[in-house]
This record gives sequence, structure tokens and C-alpha cells, in this order.
Amino acid sequence: MKLSSVIWAAGLVLGLTGVGWTQVAKPAEKATAHDTGPAINAATWECTPGHKISKRRFTLDSGARRYTFLSSGCIDPSHGEERPCAEGNFGMPAPVSANWYWGGFFQVLINGTNATAYRVQDARVIESGARAAFQTIWAHPDATVGLRLMMLPGSNHVLADLVWKSTQDAALETVEVRLTCYPSFFTAAKNRVGERHCQTPRTDVAQPKTLELEPAHDTYLYYYDTVFDMARGEGLGPCAALVAPKGVLGGSVQVGGYAVTSLLKLKPEAAGARLAFYDFSGLTNADAEAYLKAHAAEDLATLERTDFRPAAARDLDPEELQAQVATLLTEAADDGDAMKPQFDELIAKAQDLKARAADGDWVAEAGLATLLVDSADMMWKLRAFAALNAP
Ligand SMILES: [Zn+2]
Repeated sequence: MKLSSVIWAAGLVLGLTGVGWTQVAKPAEKATAHDTGPAINAATWECTPGHKISKRRFTLDSGARRYTFLSSGCIDPSHGEERPCAEGNFGMPAPVSANWYWGGFFQVLINGTNATAYRVQDARVIESGARAAFQTIWAHPDATVGLRLMMLPGSNHVLADLVWKSTQDAALETVEVRLTCYPSFFTAAKNRVGERHCQTPRTDVAQPKTLELEPAHDTYLYYYDTVFDMARGEGLGPCAALVAPKGVLGGSVQVGGYAVTSLLKLKPEAAGARLAFYDFSGLTNADAEAYLKAHAAEDLATLERTDFRPAAARDLDPEELQAQVATLLTEAADDGDAMKPQFDELIAKAQDLKARAADGDWVAEAGLATLLVDSADMMWKLRAFAALNAP
């Protein structure tokens, strides 16, 4: 039998019982994450012509709904640590380009300047399978800002965990999140007039007006347009956000005739906030509203209790791993001796990352997840040799 067949057969027998090497889920319970990696294009509208723009897309697919996020920024050296981009730096081009704005729907303002327009320090998928998640970390001069976005299998929305940590004792006077959406349709750009609304569990405000938020009560923000309603054969359908009240000082929603802009003022000392995003494209306003009235409270409870750490960072025990590997190396006999150095290196790396992850280091937590994925092949090979050579 070819080695690849042996590995496959041994994997069927042995491979699915390890410490998080494979997150096996039934097809209906799977959520997947995908990263295109960075791609560079010459600036046209994004920045000065001739500058280079880095773009990267991450997709989260719950099996029920798929969202794509677009991270963009100009990497011309003249900008230093800044990464300008005309339409924004962090957008949601799918399910649709309207609703949460494709070019940039999400900003984090640290002392008034947008962290997502700074250098990306880390960006990667951290889970795919049992849950789908990726993270992005921005290097704002006053704070390191991290965002994790996650979909659970079968869900219709994206959970968000935002954290910030001041750099070198920089004073954090203000931390705010600014969200931009064009509910259902790009009205003004297409010379149409709609009637935008923002509805919360407490109130409903129509354009043109500013809604002052009461964090304890306004736990969801439902953005819709009564003209551009699928029930009337117009527009694409509405969108919404959840705002977990913990750490939120207040905020406002400017319900304009074109963009609707929400500003959430956060407690700088809270060091984190939790949000969720819904794109209800394909649904009538009535169906989206009915969904939120029935399910927003339960979705909020899930958002608040979710542990966003990747499974590997939560569950991996380097000592247990070491013991398990030692047994397999012994069983693999001569083949095990040959593989020992690379496993020693793997275990040393896992120990180092685990220690850093214990201090809440997101890069180290993600490193643990990546380490397990990257070492899956060598682990399966070891299991195969152990199965073949064991007395
Ligand atoms: Zn530029």
C-alpha cells in the first residue's frame, strides 16, 4: 500500500481522537473560514495614482449565509504606519455591497483617529470547521486594536469581539466605533429617494433625524428603508447590528437619506466590546423585523457568552500533547526516531505560544491554532507509523 493510503486508512481508525488536530463536525454543523491572502493593485480611486494598495478578503460561511470582509490600505512608504484608502479600510462586500458598506463599514476611533487606517499587524483565519473565525490586529500609535469575527454553524449573522490595549502607557481619552450602512439600496447614487429608519427595541426613528442611544435598552439597531422593501419589489433587504451594553457609554445614529452612520462611545477602560452584524438581504422588512423581535435577545446572550479564543488556544495542553507524542514516537520505533527532532520543535513552540496566550496575546492564541493546522500532516504520518510499527 502507498504511504498516502496507509495514512488515510490509519487516519480513519486513529486520527480523529487527538487533541484538537481535526475539528470534525457533521456537514450541517460546519462553518468555514477562507482567506485570499493579500493582493496588491495599483491605486486608482483608493489613493494617489501609482501608489500600491493591499487588499485582502476573508469569507465566513455558516452553511446558511456567507459574509465577505475586505481589508484595504495603501502601503506606499510615504504614509509611514498609516494605510489610507478613500472608501474605507474594512468593508463587507458580500452578501451585498449595500447594507454594511462594501468599502468600509467599520472604524475604531482611538482618541479620535481611525485605527483600521493603520498598519495591519496580524490577519488570519483562526478557526474553520466547528466554528468559522478570523482576526485582524491594527497598530494604531496609541493602542493595539484587535477584531475577531465569527460565524457559528447555521447562523445568519457575524459575531464580533473588539479589544484594545494602550501602547506604552498612551492615555486613551476616547474609544469609539463608527458603523456605516446604506440600508437596502444606494439611494442617492442612483437618483432615488427612500425613507430610512433605525429601529431599536425601544424606539423607531425615520430620516432625517439623529437617534440618541440608551445602551441598556438599544441592544439592537435595525436599519431599513420603507421605500426599498423587498415586499414592494424594491431594494435588496435590510440590515442590523447587535450592541452588547457592557462597556458602552452611549452613542447616536444619524439616520440620513443616503448613509446611516452609527457612533458608539465605549468606555476606554473596558478594553473590549461585543457587536454582531446581520445582512438581511433577500428578506422583506417585516420578516427581518420579526426575526429580531423573536431572536435578538437570544443572539445577544450567545454573543455575550461566546469564548472567541480559537479552539486550540482554549483546549491545547502542551504537556498532554508531549505525553501523547512520546507514546506514538515509541510505537513508531525507527520511524519515530527519525521524526523526533521535528516533534521536539513542535512541542517547544506549543509551550512558548501557550505561555504567551495565557497573557491574552492574540497573536500567540492564533499561533496555536495555526501550529496545529500546519502540523496536522506530520501528526497523521506519525499516527500511521505508530499503527504500522506497533508490536
Ligand atoms: Zn497612498
